[in-house]
Amino acid sequence: MDRVSSQALTYGQIINLVRVGGADTRPAIEQETRLGRKLVAQRVQQAIDVGLLEDYDFASSSGGRPSRRLRFRAAAGHVYAGVIGATEITAAVTTLDGQLVDSVHEDWDAADRPQETLEVLDGLFQKLARRTKTVPWAFGIGVGGPVEFGSGRLVAPPIMPGWNDVSVRGWLRERYDAPVWVDNDVNLMALGEWHKGEPRDGRDLLYFFGDEGVGAGLVSGGAVFRGASGAAGDLGHIQVAAGENLVCRCGLVGCLEAVAGGWGLAREATRRAAESPRLQAILAARGRLTSQDIGLAAAAGDELASELAVRAAHEFGEVAGSLINFVNPGTVVLGGGILRAGDLAIAEFWKTIRNRTSVLAARNLRMRTSSLGFREGVIGAALLAIEQLFAPGSLGVWIENGSPTGFAAPLHRLAS
Ligand SMILES: [Zn+2]
Repeated sequence: MDRVSSQALTYGQIINLVRVGGADTRPAIEQETRLGRKLVAQRVQQAIDVGLLEDYDFASSSGGRPSRRLRFRAAAGHVYAGVIGATEITAAVTTLDGQLVDSVHEDWDAADRPQETLEVLDGLFQKLARRTKTVPWAFGIGVGGPVEFGSGRLVAPPIMPGWNDVSVRGWLRERYDAPVWVDNDVNLMALGEWHKGEPRDGRDLLYFFGDEGVGAGLVSGGAVFRGASGAAGDLGHIQVAAGENLVCRCGLVGCLEAVAGGWGLAREATRRAAESPRLQAILAARGRLTSQDIGLAAAAGDELASELAVRAAHEFGEVAGSLINFVNPGTVVLGGGILRAGDLAIAEFWKTIRNRTSVLAARNLRMRTSSLGFREGVIGAALLAIEQLFAPGSLGVWIENGSPTGFAAPLHRLAS
């Protein structure tokens, strides 16, 4: 490594120490980095000059001169985050610590039309840019399908069939001079809940997403577990007994998603609509039923909708319970549209898990619903971009410049 980059790494290390709370005074930084006082003072001043660090108050001291405390200026830059699900798009702007500055949401059927969808997402980003008067330092994007993390491409997403091999990164890079990281949306929801969800306990977190599709995301040791190529957590296509004879969108028979996914529910409710006057009326008026219709009907006590929602929650819970036994997380979080399907479905999910989990895996297991109001995905997407920007190697690439603008290509090469 040449001299310049080792200096940049040292500089990045100083900023990261303050950013993550490892040291908050110049003497503490000297101690942590074993660098000389003069060098630390110079580098801290450089970081203050570009707006990444600031002096604020004095540390309480046990005799001697109190030290000025430093803090990271999260508002020095902004990250743009987007989540493209099968039926909705959310976009947000956050500061460099993942705090939401502004967000917008739109119902949108993305399944078969990547180009139009990306135009809509970009329109939301432009709207947010005008409203917040910010420019993106980086993009974090979540999509509702499997993503090869290194390249940022989708690979055979069953609920977004038109998106195979689409590069969201490539599309945004033609329009913005900023690095782009792409991940599966449920991985990012797990990351968002781990960092910002309540209560925050730092333990391994397994997030279950029940929505149009079903999926899971695992944060272990503070990092998303993606597996060898990014496919970890994709549990919608595990075979379940109740799926017998049901064809899934992926082409297989008997997948969990065909029973418990929103589209599977809508299909079954349409077949049996004669049993529910409420759903029958919607079907007659609109020609089709959506998972939201069934969720709302279930929450309002409709018998057929409740039966289907509870059955879906049960099947989901069976698979989730097995995974909990395998992973032994500290916290399990349930999120997604399933939360709008009423208390019966949610209670069935937890009950099934309790019946499934081993005594040891159940010990000290915290089970809760998501706590970020359906924003955990975009918050997680922002955190992904921040994590990547401030990874020690990445920081060395751009930090001498004061911002990552213009360094997208070398930063992408470091994504793994
Ligand atoms: Zn399937």
